[in-house]
Amino acid sequence: MSGLRDILIARIRADGPMTLADYMADCLMHPTHGYYATRDPLGAAGDFTTAPEISQMFGELLGLSLAQVWLDQGSPGAFTLAECGPGRGTLMADVLRATRAVPGFHAALRLHLIETSPALRAVQAARLGRDDITWHDHLDALPDDAPLFLLANEFFDALPIRQLQREGDMWRERCVGVQDGALTLGLSAPKPVAALAHRQDDTRDGDIVEICAGAQAMAGAIGARIGAQGGAALIVDYGDWRSLGDTFQAVAGHQTADPLADPGEADLTAHVDFEALAQAATPAAHTRLTPQGVFLERLGITARAQTLAQGLEGAALEAHVAAHRRLTHPTEMGTVFKVLGLFPETAAPPPGLET
Ligand code: SAH
Repeated sequence: MSGLRDILIARIRADGPMTLADYMADCLMHPTHGYYATRDPLGAAGDFTTAPEISQMFGELLGLSLAQVWLDQGSPGAFTLAECGPGRGTLMADVLRATRAVPGFHAALRLHLIETSPALRAVQAARLGRDDITWHDHLDALPDDAPLFLLANEFFDALPIRQLQREGDMWRERCVGVQDGALTLGLSAPKPVAALAHRQDDTRDGDIVEICAGAQAMAGAIGARIGAQGGAALIVDYGDWRSLGDTFQAVAGHQTADPLADPGEADLTAHVDFEALAQAATPAAHTRLTPQGVFLERLGITARAQTLAQGLEGAALEAHVAAHRRLTHPTEMGTVFKVLGLFPETAAPPPGLET
């Protein structure tokens, strides 16, 4: 029996059905029952595994791409190095190790992490082992007086979405209600939705469109800083250019689950609408949306994999070869995951990406 389920049922009985966004926010970040607020869900023993947990090569190559942008922009003397949703801190640890050889980079960086989960903040602190980290709950709190170099891997998919189902020139909102004592999905009455005016031409009656207001606000805050102060962002996630259809899903124990079955006990995600992020990020320019496999190949993952393989044998070598394949192969993470780069209009795009 989930404590959060009882809380949500009581609230819906009092206030009426809740939007998917409000449901998702509580399931993930409720201070005492939220999925991320209370645990470290990553890795083989957890519910899901992410690219930085699969191989050190992922963070090394992303770090070197950002460091090259920093060099190309004239090695600014003090800059913000930020990560959204750093999980176990593995990506940032690999970035910091790989960039140690870049002269001046470490002396100039100020490390800022955006993380709401107290449990994961503790894991990140232990992993990174430094006393100069500033944590923030919200991206808005990042400094706006220095160039921003930012990473986000599997962060935007965790932000709460709304789902709207088209009916003529109106939309019905998918909401969580209560029926016979259980949580159930329902539809609101049709209403106009100004934010979906541009979707009249590419949707039909019955189609579901997702909106992530939080993602757009954060992309806006990132783009404003990069546009004004310089820097770059690398955003990696599953999703596509423009969202269509129901991508709301739950994962527990490496298996998909019913998102309403056990509130707070499963990871809830939705695909990222990269078009919405790119548009919200103006005045920053954006790169073409690029498959993760293509991006990592362009950055030289095969050469790096061969170098690392020289020191390995037996099961460790097999695991290393499998990890390389998993990150890049089109049938594994290579195509489903995409990379979007944000950069100043007057600068070159990050290495590995094109406009
Ligand atoms: N980037 C990591 C972890 C991905 S899991 C990796 O690739 O391994 C998602 C991360 O985002 C977790 O650290 C989670 O606590 C954090 N997170 C989720 N929603 C958030 C929010 N609204 N604000 C800040 N952090 C959030």
